Amino acid sequence: MQTDYLIIGQGITGTMLSWQLIEAGASVMVLDAPNGKGASQVASGVINPVTGRHLLRSWDIEKFMPIAVQAYRDLEQVLKKPLIRQCNILNFHPTPQMHLTFRERLAEMPEYLHQPDNEAQFREWFQFDFGVGETRPCWLIDLHSLLQTWRAQLLANGQLRETVFKSEDCEVGPDAVLYQDIQASAIIYCDGAASINNPYFNQLPFAPNKGQALIVSVPGLPQLYNYKQGINLLPWKENQFWAGASFEWNFEHDRPTAVFRDKTIAQLKRWLKLPFEVVDHLSALRPATLERRPFVGLHPVYPRVGIFNGMGTKGCSLSPYFAREFAQHLLHQSPITPAADVQRFTRILSR
Ligand SMILES: Cc1cc2nc3c(=O)[nH]c(=O)nc-3n(C[C@H](O)[C@H](O)[C@H](O)COP(=O)(O)OP(=O)(O)OC[C@H]3O[C@@H](n4cnc5c(N)ncnc54)[C@H](O)[C@@H]3O)c2cc1C
Repeated sequence: MQTDYLIIGQGITGTMLSWQLIEAGASVMVLDAPNGKGASQVASGVINPVTGRHLLRSWDIEKFMPIAVQAYRDLEQVLKKPLIRQCNILNFHPTPQMHLTFRERLAEMPEYLHQPDNEAQFREWFQFDFGVGETRPCWLIDLHSLLQTWRAQLLANGQLRETVFKSEDCEVGPDAVLYQDIQASAIIYCDGAASINNPYFNQLPFAPNKGQALIVSVPGLPQLYNYKQGINLLPWKENQFWAGASFEWNFEHDRPTAVFRDKTIAQLKRWLKLPFEVVDHLSALRPATLERRPFVGLHPVYPRVGIFNGMGTKGCSLSPYFAREFAQHLLHQSPITPAADVQRFTRILSR
């Protein structure tokens, strides 16, 4: 069979890129491992305009967030599923210092940071000593529903195969890419943390980061906010919350650990006044990069091979913007944002 683009992986990057290419009239074939447990399956799905302990404005968030919100709303129409909702973050300051930092930033970022009117209302559910702040607007993406529904649509249209791609069986020629019975104009790797071992891109400065989360049921806790005190506790399925995550730079494997589970349970017991029960434990590697910027574009030496990766902790907010940009680049040679363009590594990738 013949296709314009062979896409490896159907996490959030493969989903967004395949959607953008199909919307623009191109043909795609997506290959994704059956029952894959990539980062997008484990992620909480938050878009937060304010990052980290120092409450800094996320990179170019004014540019990325509106495009992302619109993309998920458009996909809701295409897939006829609710996929995005506003879910603001309630920051229960864990230390007096964090309270001070929040108060300082409040004046600098009035468009995102707010003081809730009546923080006493949260004492019914939480134990806290240093006040509460709110980050608004934040968004919650139902990644499970998005990935599953888009996958079902691709499968129904013969545009996805559930199979493990083997790069050693793929032939990249001057005029086409051949893999089994597939002939494509180009192959685009959207394979997340697996790209660390990719023969074309393994020299890129990836810095994989392990993240774990518990799924807990907390009857009686309203699913209105992303509650945060060191960890996030945010709406998951009915009556369930996603509690996490770890940011591990040193790890022996990508599986859940008892250390994380015990630490998170202890943290929840100190913070929550309601009883809870652990129902699942998730873990995956984030495809993070040393520079904290994505890898988007075509290989400088093999122009039929591309990459869409390196979303780190921000796949939900970054991938809609860069999928659109990359699709336009593939189809109309329009430029890619230099900070994300993989051509910035031409010297390394030409070795
Ligand atoms: C605990 C945790 C919480 C997170 N929370 C958030 C959050 O709230 N908001 C946010 O924006 N980001 C969050 N992230 C980060 C986010 O998950 C990533 O940025 C994003 O999912 C990366 O998407 P991806 O498509 O690049 O990779 P992945 O989601 O890992 O997808 C890669 C896909 O490629 C497939 N694949 C790989 N190799 C092959 C092969 N050889 N053959 C076939 N298929 C293959 C895999 O099966 C997988 O389906 C979180 C991550 C973790 C771990």
